[in-house]
Amino acid sequence: MFKLWSFTGGVHLDTHKESSSRAPLQTARLPKALIYPLQGRGGLNAKPLVEPGERVLKGQIIARDDSPMNPPIHAATSGVVRAVEERPLPHPSGLSDLCIVIDADGEDESAEFEGVADYRKLKPQELRERIHEAGIVGLGGAAFPTAVKISPGECREVDTLILNGAECEPYITCDDSLLRNFPDEVLGGAKILMHILRVERCLLGIESDMPEAIAALEAEWQRGDYCGIEIVPVPAVYPTGGEKQLIKVLTGREVPAKGIPADIGVVCQNVGTAAAIYKAIVRGEPLISRIVTVTGLGIRQPQNLLARIGTPIAELVEQCGGYTPPVQRLILGGPMMGFALPTDELPILKSANCVLAAGPQEVIGDKQAMPCIRCGECANACPVNLLPQQLYWYGRADNLERVLDYNLPDCIECGCCDYVCPSHIPLVQYFRAAKSKVAEKERERRKADHARERFEARQARKEREKLEKAEIARRKKAMLDKAPEIQQAMDKAKALKATEVPQI
Ligand code: SF4
Ligand code: SF4
Repeated sequence: MFKLWSFTGGVHLDTHKESSSRAPLQTARLPKALIYPLQGRGGLNAKPLVEPGERVLKGQIIARDDSPMNPPIHAATSGVVRAVEERPLPHPSGLSDLCIVIDADGEDESAEFEGVADYRKLKPQELRERIHEAGIVGLGGAAFPTAVKISPGECREVDTLILNGAECEPYITCDDSLLRNFPDEVLGGAKILMHILRVERCLLGIESDMPEAIAALEAEWQRGDYCGIEIVPVPAVYPTGGEKQLIKVLTGREVPAKGIPADIGVVCQNVGTAAAIYKAIVRGEPLISRIVTVTGLGIRQPQNLLARIGTPIAELVEQCGGYTPPVQRLILGGPMMGFALPTDELPILKSANCVLAAGPQEVIGDKQAMPCIRCGECANACPVNLLPQQLYWYGRADNLERVLDYNLPDCIECGCCDYVCPSHIPLVQYFRAAKSKVAEKERERRKADHARERFEARQARKEREKLEKAEIARRKKAMLDKAPEIQQAMDKAKALKATEVPQI
């Protein structure tokens, strides 16, 4: 019997997963156009490698930058680049940025992909480079670059790989669908990751209310050589699928504040990411598609679709029979951690696990907020041991120093505090706003530091030049001061030479 641990806080939620999970997985139709935002992590934009009018192939790299934090972007089908232009982004900020728009030509002509016959013959660094070039980022929602995440560094000793199949947020069933349909890709990806990390142990955590996925994984485990991999059902408590929470449940270890899992010997990857790694290494395929759950009372036929990255949401909704009235809100992600979208013309990105067209009774946090009664329910529910009410007070007062004292950056925005708050205060909204302000202040501080460093460097250079000039002047003066003595010595030598008797 596998020993499980528990984390503090968390909530039991109605899962609402049946509507999308009972329909079989479908491949989404080829979209008319695909949209690829160029914005990457750290505010850096990838550089477009294609121009309007140019034809591209499926799997071709269309944009990249030099940072390991931003893997390249690939076209998901063949077509012609329509434009490189500003478009709204599927992001809570609602801002626009440069995007590449490709008109699909319907031929779906692919670039050449070349896989590796035996990945064990490649060094871990070579495999990481292939993973980066395949454009792989975490598919659990955070989209962190995978090649970076599986490079814990020499100073950290990793002994356990955790695969996260604990899809705990209501409505979302894309990982469930992946595990039921492609358990070989997930377990195959786990083997490659174990080779890269040089670990003997992999724990695949999966919520106990996903029996078909568990059965599919176990059947595949019996078929293949998956020694070292354990499939571990975990209790269905939200947010067990949070990285730190799942690590605690499976190993009893706690990731320290401001630390990363590798600090305690663990690397954690989403099951979808493991499958993407398998396809990239074994078949040479870049990450150009993913499974997306399209669901909610506002969708006529909820289901999971294997969709190409860059597909406009409207096309996926259309394939699910369209909207059913009344749709209260269109959400990217689940009801707890997702965010509202202004339009369905936005594309799905690699991080998009769910499109939720929520009916009126499905929208969480839509009630009239009332004053905080200091009941402490939010603190009891917080899985990270934070004090949400304190964060709320200081966040509302723009007291950024105090929100940092209360560890705001540790907040995983799980929404448990929102869910239990009897005053219906949209706490996470305040936390997101406070995080943006902290990030903005940090950017300004870095800018000011940079300006100060430049000013100080300029002052130091001027001071140095002044000292050098003074030294040159001093030497010159010393020479001039010595000039009469030198002249005297020269005169003396000349006179001496004149008095000498010439030798015959
Ligand atoms: S749950 Fe709501 S009302 Fe209660 S302390 Fe937290 S913020 Fe205040
Ligand atoms: S949203 Fe943040 S503060 Fe609220 S329960 Fe989750 S981790 Fe705690």
